[in-house]
Amino acid sequence: MKPIVRTIVLISILVVATNLRAQTPQKVNPPDDRYKVDILEVVAHPDDEAFFTPYLAREIYDNHKRVAVIFSTHGGSGVNRFTRERGPAMANEREIEARQACAKLGIQNVWFLDGKDTASQDVLISLSNWGHGANLEKLVGLIRLTRPEVILTHYPGVFIGENHGDHQATGVLAVEAFDLAADPTVFPSQLAGDMSHYESYLSNLKTWQPKKIYFGSDANDGKQFKGSGPAYSVREVSPSRKKPYWLLAMDSAMAHRTQFPDEIDRLSKMSDAELEKIMNNPDSSWWPEPMTLIFGKSYYPTKPTDDVFANLQGAHTECTPSGGVENPSGTPHVTLGGPWGFYGFFRKEHCLQNLRVADPPEIGVKSGTALNVPLTIYHDEKKTQEIEIKVEAPAGWKIVSGSGKFLLPAEANTNLRVEIETPTLSQDELKKATRQPVKVRVQGDGMAEQELRIDVLLRPNGIPE
Ligand SMILES: [Zn+2]
Repeated sequence: MKPIVRTIVLISILVVATNLRAQTPQKVNPPDDRYKVDILEVVAHPDDEAFFTPYLAREIYDNHKRVAVIFSTHGGSGVNRFTRERGPAMANEREIEARQACAKLGIQNVWFLDGKDTASQDVLISLSNWGHGANLEKLVGLIRLTRPEVILTHYPGVFIGENHGDHQATGVLAVEAFDLAADPTVFPSQLAGDMSHYESYLSNLKTWQPKKIYFGSDANDGKQFKGSGPAYSVREVSPSRKKPYWLLAMDSAMAHRTQFPDEIDRLSKMSDAELEKIMNNPDSSWWPEPMTLIFGKSYYPTKPTDDVFANLQGAHTECTPSGGVENPSGTPHVTLGGPWGFYGFFRKEHCLQNLRVADPPEIGVKSGTALNVPLTIYHDEKKTQEIEIKVEAPAGWKIVSGSGKFLLPAEANTNLRVEIETPTLSQDELKKATRQPVKVRVQGDGMAEQELRIDVLLRPNGIPE
C-alpha cells in the first residue's frame, strides 16, 4: 500500500471509530414499572375498597396481580363514631385508614381525587359538588400512569339501595376515563414531554386503553345481577395464605375505626370459627357468596361471564356512540329527567346499553321527606307548548307542586319537577313497607297522553353515608 493510500485508510478508520462512539445510543428513561397495575380499583370513600376486597385478595395473593386503588373522596362527610374529629380533620384520618386497609392486602399505591364527600342519592349533585372536569382529568392522568388492564368501580345507575351519589359519580368518572385515556386529544398536556427544565407541569405520559371495566352495586336486591359477570367464591381458602378470601378482606376492613369502631371491637375478639358463622349466614355476611363482578364492557370481544383476565387482546370491535342527540324524531314527548335522563344518554354514549336498568325506575326515600320526580318535556323549539300534568300517588302522600297546567317557553326541551311529601311511618310500618308506584301523566297540544311510573320504597333513612 502506498503511503498516501495508507494515510487515507487510517483516517477513514479513525472517522468510522469516532462516528461509532458518537452513535452509542443515549438511554431514554422508560415508564416507571413500579406503578403499572393489572387491576385499578376506583371507589368513592374510604371503606368502599371493600366492595371488591375478597376478589382482590384472590388476585393479589394467588394470581400475583398488581393492584392500585383510587378513592374519589377523602370521606369527610358522615359521622365519626370513634372520636370527636369531624369534617376535614376526619377526612385526614380516613385517608390514613384507607391506606392502612389497602396496605393489609399488600396494596401500596393508593391515590385520592379531590371529590367532596357529598351525602345525596343524586349523581348529578355529587358531580357538581366535586368539580367533574378537574377530577376526570386527574383520573385520566392516573390511568395513564398505572396502565391498568382492568378497572373495578361502582355501578352507574339508580336502584333502591344505598344508592350513594358519590358511588354513582365515581362509576361515571371511571367509565369516562376508560373511554378517554387512549385519546391523544384528551388532556394533551399529560402526554407532552418537557422541552426545557422549567416546563415542569407537562407529564410525559402515554395514552392508555384499559381493556375491561366491571361494576359493584349496592342495590338492596343484589340477586338481580346474578349471571351479569364472572362470579368468584369469597369462601374459598387462599392456597398461599391458608385463610378464606372473606377473612383476608375482613381483616383489611378493620382499619376503618372512625366508621365501625364497635363492630371492629366485637369482631376482633372473635375466633376464626365464630367469624365463619357470621359469614355463613346470608343475613349477616358482608359479601354475597359468590361475588359477581358486573360486566360493563370490554375493548376486545369477550363474554360477560368470562374470567376477568380472559380475552385481553385481539381485534378491537368498535362501538359507535349515539352522538348525544336528545330528540332525534322531534316528536313532543316526556321522559324522566335528572339522573334518569342523564343515564339514558350516558349508557348510549359509552356503549353500556347492556347494563341492567330498574324497570320501572325505582328509588328509596326517607319516610317523611320529599320525593322529587324530575321530568323533561321535549317539544317544538319554535313555539310555546301548553301541557297538563296529573299525578297519582299512594294514599296519605301529598302532592306539593308540579301538577296542573303549564305553558312552556319556545325551546327544545323544558325541565319540570313534581314534588311529593311522603308520610312519616312508624318503625313497624317501615319494616313492612313495600315499594309503591307514583304515576305522572302528561299531555298537551300535539302530544298524546304519556304515563311515567316510578316505584318508591319508604325507608328509615334515605341520605347515604
Ligand atoms: Zn361509600
